[in-house]
Amino acid sequence: MSRYVYDFVEGNKDLKDLLGGKGANLAEMTRMGLPVPPGFTVTTDACREYLHTGSMPEALPAEVEHHLRLVEGKIGKSFGDPGDPLLLSVRSGAKFSMPGMMETILDIGLNDATVAGLARRTSDERFAWDSYRRLIQMFGRTVFDVPGGDFETELAHARDAAGVHSDAELSAPQLRELVTAYKKVFHGHTGRDFPQSVHEQLFLAITAVFRSWNAERARVYRRKERIPQELGTAVNVMAMVFGNRGPDSGTGVAFTRDPATGRRGVYGDYLSNAQGEDVVAGIRNTVGLAELGTIDPASYRQLLSIMERLEQRYRDLCDIEFTIENGKLWMLQTRVGKRTPAAAFVIAAQLVDEGTITLDEALQRVSGEQLAQLMFPSFDEEAAGTPLTTGVPASPGAAVGAIVFDSAQAAAAIGPVILVRRETNPDDLPGMIAAQGILTSRGGKTSHAAVVARGMGKTCVCGADELRIGDGVVSINGRTLSAGDTISIDGSTGRVYAGAVPVRASKVVRYFEREVTAHGDPLLSAVERLMIHADHTATLGVHANADTGPDAARARRFGATGVGLCRTEHMFLGDRRVLVERLILAEDDAGRAQALAALLPLQRADFEELFAAMDGLPVTIRLIDPPLHEFLPPLEELTARVARAEALGRDAGRDGVLLAAVRRMHEANPMLGLRGVRLGLVIPGLFAMQVRAIAEAAAARVATGGDPRPEVMVPLVGAVQELETVRAEAEAVLAGVPGAPPIRIGTMIEVPRAALIAGQIAGAAEFFSFGTNDLTQMTWGFSRDDVEGAFFGRYLELGVFGVSPFETIDSEGVGELVRIAVTRGRAARPGLTVGVCGEHGGDPASVRFFHDAGLDYVSCSPFRVPIARLEAGRAAG
Ligand code: PEP
Ligand code: MG
Repeated sequence: MSRYVYDFVEGNKDLKDLLGGKGANLAEMTRMGLPVPPGFTVTTDACREYLHTGSMPEALPAEVEHHLRLVEGKIGKSFGDPGDPLLLSVRSGAKFSMPGMMETILDIGLNDATVAGLARRTSDERFAWDSYRRLIQMFGRTVFDVPGGDFETELAHARDAAGVHSDAELSAPQLRELVTAYKKVFHGHTGRDFPQSVHEQLFLAITAVFRSWNAERARVYRRKERIPQELGTAVNVMAMVFGNRGPDSGTGVAFTRDPATGRRGVYGDYLSNAQGEDVVAGIRNTVGLAELGTIDPASYRQLLSIMERLEQRYRDLCDIEFTIENGKLWMLQTRVGKRTPAAAFVIAAQLVDEGTITLDEALQRVSGEQLAQLMFPSFDEEAAGTPLTTGVPASPGAAVGAIVFDSAQAAAAIGPVILVRRETNPDDLPGMIAAQGILTSRGGKTSHAAVVARGMGKTCVCGADELRIGDGVVSINGRTLSAGDTISIDGSTGRVYAGAVPVRASKVVRYFEREVTAHGDPLLSAVERLMIHADHTATLGVHANADTGPDAARARRFGATGVGLCRTEHMFLGDRRVLVERLILAEDDAGRAQALAALLPLQRADFEELFAAMDGLPVTIRLIDPPLHEFLPPLEELTARVARAEALGRDAGRDGVLLAAVRRMHEANPMLGLRGVRLGLVIPGLFAMQVRAIAEAAAARVATGGDPRPEVMVPLVGAVQELETVRAEAEAVLAGVPGAPPIRIGTMIEVPRAALIAGQIAGAAEFFSFGTNDLTQMTWGFSRDDVEGAFFGRYLELGVFGVSPFETIDSEGVGELVRIAVTRGRAARPGLTVGVCGEHGGDPASVRFFHDAGLDYVSCSPFRVPIARLEAGRAAG
């Protein structure tokens, strides 16, 4: 029989699938004997069943009641007891923490009867009525979607009527009246009274958490973070403790190391006489955690020792939420803490030094995504000038964009934007996702904006309290900026600048470029160490897509061990266009031969440069791929030029000839037309010229003591006969070039048919390289040049896929073709070298797929080489 409820004493940190992250960690802390208020967790199974059937599992109410009795026993109070009521908090807690789903309800168990009991027991009538009004407000908002603003309006009325400025100054009778007003608001929106049955309150709250799993903002977040939509959330029910019981009470958050830099020490914020939500919302100003040492030394010491134990238990940075009620410390939450990418690397290396984890484990603590973020540029400090203001550096990076004030403006904007808000809440999530950076005027490093931005790797400056945000404008120290004005924000220093500040390459990039060494720099040393270990562990090689000597040289500095794709068509641009035109327009073999002969030395020089940069490493050169008319002027432009000439009574000359050629070559679907191997078969001598250039360049390098390792790659093959024909022609050319090293001939696998008949194709190919751009295009039937704007947004919304298949390999469909081709290719030719050179080669999630599929290497743009190296190491670990 399935169980739907676990007491905190029954779970542990490894049960995240069932109990969610929060529940599993509360259980772990309870097992460790830490001061956790008693409580229980309703499992994700129960949530999934609710979402599936639309009603609670039948056995759930009895199980909840049973566990409630256990909590009552531990606390010595009863739920709903008008004399001394037990109060509960209800919180969501999914496997992955999700800022999109922040449904928390405190003080469940208060009603017209128990509020009096609470007042008597605590001798604090004001506190009791304040808790009751908070319950109606939170319950109304989260369970019945009563607009929060309606409660705020009543609260403002109450303050005005009492002639006070803050809620804290409202007296017990005034709060009691506020409760009456809140009940009216509640009734007005729901058509029913605020539930007086405490059990009904509890069950309504639990189902509200279940439902919130499907809240729009939670779905958006999951899609972005690639969290499966069907996981469901657990619900944590816990005895209430109060941080708002006076000056010897309070609430705080703590980190066992600095989540921004990774530095050792104790970091966090504390807020006296307040409830936890007040800190996270960044509504009131907190003090640094160290000050708790003065405010309440005993609790501080206890907290520090708990933090040390948690670090040892989790073997990682932990973040913690705690509350002190009348001098007694309570742990409300812990988890392995979020951190900036820089902190992730630094902490991983520190933990190795401290003997807590191995290098293999350290590799799993960082990711290619994080490394990618560290390779972002930063501002050129000298060119930046004087900042407008400085806020709290909450999430590093340099972001430049137009000001937007909400998600709608962010969605409507065309270029990069910076979301500017007083503070953020989960409703701002779409805007935060769309923005390059986030700037707020309130809240510290643990505010919603800061936490979410760090999680997303977005630049964030928060708590810039000199900002005055008005209706569609923001003024900063006398300067007023409007929506659409450009600003620059530096998430590493907290500085905010007007206009676009020039950006500079990242320190990590400069390290990879060998402009600086890692010596003495904690971040660079950590990166260096982990990269060395990744290379040592990886079985998947990393090559680069590079077309020029300088690109190849850079890729090599970044750690590429070969060129996996040189797109030779890129060598036909610029001044050389005329030569290509001559080739296209040639009317006979002699004319064509002449045009090709003119191209030959240029190609040869290109290849020599490439071989020099990659001396001793493989360089895979792909024969020309795109349709030749791409090298001619566009049809419309030519038509207009010819028409103009004719209108003036002039001879259109060469334009007329070009126009005829363009018309002759026009295709309705050029992507599916005369390109790749088809071009080689139709234009005699074209591929032969390229192969000759490769062989001659290699021979020239050999003659000067070089070690060139060229390979010839044929694009867009779908039938083995295509490859055999090109191969025969290429071999004939190679045989005629003395002094060239052995040159392998292989093919791209980018047409689905090629993947399916990979066994046959391997008969004529010494290597395969998956062109996953075309393979994705042809497998899905999506035009790679058009889709993103046209309908991908809608597809992402509908969850057809969580991320564009052009970005991360579609492992089910396109990936299946890859697996088939690897298996069939290697069955026909054991030891066949197989790589990938589509964009996916540099995508962290895809790198793991290619490792699992047994590829020999991935090839990606030079800049992504370190990312792929790190991921290749992680995949093998
Ligand atoms: C591919 O299709 O994945 C590929 C690498 O070739 P191109 O992008 O040049 O079509
Ligand atoms: Mg291609």
